[in-house]
Amino acid sequence: MRIPFNRPYLAGRELEYLAEAASSGLTSGDGPFTRRATALVGRLAGSSALLTTSCTHALEITALLLELRPGDEVIMPSFTFVSTANAYVLRGAVPVFVDIRPDTLNIDERAVEAAVTPRTKAIVVVHYGGVACEMDAIMKVARHHRIPVIEDNAHGLGATYQDRPLGSFGALATQSFHATKNVSCGEGGALLINDERFRERAEILREKGTDRSRFFRGQVDKYRWMDLGSSYLLSDLLAAALTAQLEEFEIIQQRRYEVWQTYHAALAGLDVVRPSVPAGSDHPAHLYYLLLPDLQRREALLRHFAERDVQATFHYQPLHSAPAGRRYGRTGLGGCPVTEDVADRLVRLPLYPALSDAEVDAVVDAVRTFPGI
Ligand SMILES: *Cc1c(COP(=O)(O)O)cnc(C)c1O
Repeated sequence: MRIPFNRPYLAGRELEYLAEAASSGLTSGDGPFTRRATALVGRLAGSSALLTTSCTHALEITALLLELRPGDEVIMPSFTFVSTANAYVLRGAVPVFVDIRPDTLNIDERAVEAAVTPRTKAIVVVHYGGVACEMDAIMKVARHHRIPVIEDNAHGLGATYQDRPLGSFGALATQSFHATKNVSCGEGGALLINDERFRERAEILREKGTDRSRFFRGQVDKYRWMDLGSSYLLSDLLAAALTAQLEEFEIIQQRRYEVWQTYHAALAGLDVVRPSVPAGSDHPAHLYYLLLPDLQRREALLRHFAERDVQATFHYQPLHSAPAGRRYGRTGLGGCPVTEDVADRLVRLPLYPALSDAEVDAVVDAVRTFPGI
């Protein structure tokens, strides 16, 4: 492909920091680069972070922290990545899939309240493309029913809702540093803790079920098996690469915004639906999508892109109707008609800092020359 869908971005100091970490001998988790990256993530998210091996694993920690029992229910959108659901299904919980809003493609806050039952143990929101969910309404429902909110903020590092960072609303939130995300170290993630009641146990679960974090702080004289747990620490080698990216966050974001804005301006007035960002939401230019009238037109546009050596792609396939979604989950009242409709019609355009102006123009041109648009 002349223009691939994604190209990993090098901020500049990754190799230098990797060499520093490798030669220091401190390559396991919670080393010096982990401390640096943790502070930077915490600042961007207005929260307190623990680095993890992935967003998937951070979500698994949230499921352990909630002490879910088989049959407990977790409300979430169907229009999301599989890990949002799998983390809770692994604990025996039932994902209750609710529909999304047709404008932001975020969980429909009105459907959330309707899905609450006495077995509901959490509401998981996903800020699609880093555009905030309707957090005022969702937090109100959560408070009313005393149910914790978890933010899967994989797309939304640095984004805000009414001037407050995404990742700071839920009792817990998660970040991803996968190669496809704005800031990356290949594979990595973070757990954000906003409800202090979860902190001590989160540290233990992340450290294989031991109190090794307290031991390293000198708070206990030996560390022991305390609880369930697994190996969720990011290697300091990867934290070194992550630090290099986080230090250049503004530069990464600046170029992503330029590309996003160029698409948005150049594709205005065409017969195609562009992303909608409500007032009060500051998004991080994580993705740019178009909604075509139907599946046939979407497939035709993807072929049109491929003929021009531009890689565009679809996105989430609904979880509620996927084989595992049917087996382990159920839908809320009314099902997920918007999710089913949108999943068939959505096309994502290439969006990353390494795109040149000429490449952005070529992508725009590919859309504009699509017959009937
Ligand atoms: C990427 C992504 C994940 C998974 O992140 P990993 O770090 O790859 O585990 C989870 N949820 C959403 C919404 C994502 O986009």
